[in-house]
Amino acid sequence: MKRTSRRDFLKLAGLGALAFPGLESAFAKAPAHRPNIIVILADDLGYADVGFNGCKDIATPNIDSLAKNGVRCANGYVSHPFCSPTRAGLMTGRYQQRFGHENNPTWLPEDSKVGLPLTETFLVKQLRAAGYATGAVGKWHLGAAPCFHPNERGFAEYFGFRGGGHLYLPDEKNPLPTAKTWQVEYRIPLNRNQESVAHEGYMTEILSREAVAFVNRHKAEPFFLYLAYNAVHTPLQAPEKYLARFPHIADEKRRTYAAMNSAMDDGIGLVLAALREHKLENDTLVVFLSDNGGPITVVPCSNAPLRGGKGQVFEGGIHVPFVACWPGKLPAGAVYNEPVIALDLLPTALALAGAQPPEKPLDGVNLIPHLAGENKAAPHERLFWRTGGGATWAVREGRYKLASIAKAEKAQLFDLEADIGETRDLAAEKPEVVKRLTAAFEAWNAQLVAPLFESPRPGPKKQQQQRKKAAAP
Ligand code: CA
Repeated sequence: MKRTSRRDFLKLAGLGALAFPGLESAFAKAPAHRPNIIVILADDLGYADVGFNGCKDIATPNIDSLAKNGVRCANGYVSHPFCSPTRAGLMTGRYQQRFGHENNPTWLPEDSKVGLPLTETFLVKQLRAAGYATGAVGKWHLGAAPCFHPNERGFAEYFGFRGGGHLYLPDEKNPLPTAKTWQVEYRIPLNRNQESVAHEGYMTEILSREAVAFVNRHKAEPFFLYLAYNAVHTPLQAPEKYLARFPHIADEKRRTYAAMNSAMDDGIGLVLAALREHKLENDTLVVFLSDNGGPITVVPCSNAPLRGGKGQVFEGGIHVPFVACWPGKLPAGAVYNEPVIALDLLPTALALAGAQPPEKPLDGVNLIPHLAGENKAAPHERLFWRTGGGATWAVREGRYKLASIAKAEKAQLFDLEADIGETRDLAAEKPEVVKRLTAAFEAWNAQLVAPLFESPRPGPKKQQQQRKKAAAP
């Protein structure tokens, strides 16, 4: 069946209730002009490893062009300090701890319990029902069993790998998966929709090509594209073509990381070029962010000036490079300072598409009126984080953030406006703020459930060994 083009949709909507009663009511609140939406998610990218956040040794001109032509969210957050829970929150617009998705799912293709619970609605489903072409490209990491496949959760089109990561280049010494779960996950064949397909070349380039092809295929209708690179997550692998750009970086690991970042930046450039070619730039909201902070203990990345990194509720784990670009609709070269969160992205898309929200209440909000300067209020009164069923947690309200880093220790209070590096604990000085934020966290925490599954990784040491092994040439 031919999809409804944007022009057809407007024509149909104009015909009114008599001709198409169902359609008319479904799109009653649809804006007259529905933009395309592209969400580009980097993996484990350091806060300070993009030009627009001050990176000096890795040029990211294409990512930076989004900040130049759009709004840099200076307080852009994700809802978790590591991969899968952040994606669960992003996809549903709800704090993922509400439905037990608080850890990374183990790669268990037979297990229909380890993945984003089937009781939750992926908001992309609502976009699709509203007539959007929907596609996901890249890393999935929301469950390995067939019931968790992107096509089953709402994406009409999918190309990528469904685990938590993948080799970027073939491992010629060990081409086949071993019995070790983690090694299987990083070597699984790519999927084009439900089919396994062979692939050749560098993963980041493959994903970029697929994203461009999606834009080309759907240029004549409103579309939503979720482009989830596994770059710059380990294993650190990059072809010479990109490594050669960084003779000034002596540290081999940093050089490889830089090359991976540069390849991703090139790919984003190709997607933006496709939008230009089809004259869709002013018709497309592009958001770029990382799924969590840089893993500073594993990879020589930088979250400066933020404290900590991936896995932690310090800013370095959850405060990420975050930019939204929509020429003509959002200001160019602007900085937005109120806290925003990845939970907002799909609710924003629903609003732009005039799509129906699902039954369960959303935590995310439509950011456009805020980023466009029409709504001066902060999008959120407070933001919350919780890991490990409560092992660590944090709450941000205005300038203050209360962070509980370890169960045995007292929560620490930081004034992020004065001290973005979280260097001075103000808890003893401001007991009334500690009390208020503790109560707010407890009220939120009472709405959550226990984690449904545990993360697979056996321990940091073994994890590092495994990473090293997978990265070996
Ligand atoms: Ca990640």
